[in-house]
Amino acid sequence: MRSPIDRMIDEACGLTPEKIEEKIEQLRANRKKLFLTLRCPSCGKEQQSRRTPDDPPNAALMLMACPDHFPAGETVPVEYRDENGTVL
Ligand SMILES: [Zn+2]
Repeated sequence: MRSPIDRMIDEACGLTPEKIEEKIEQLRANRKKLFLTLRCPSCGKEQQSRRTPDDPPNAALMLMACPDHFPAGETVPVEYRDENGTVL
């Protein structure tokens, strides 16, 4: 919830609650384009990670063992999923 002062400033700048909501949605969408959620399948630990050119563009989630659940010296298997949880 915006404070009364914030709302006064918003109004003076021509920002309506709808416009602010729209802006927030845009920022969320941009963030989704820039970041992937990394999740450890063993402990469920999550982290946001910046996408790399190697990541599938429609991937929303990357399942990868965290350092605690990663067998030393082995290649970590990676699985990508889209927003609906479909394996890519
Ligand atoms: Zn883990």
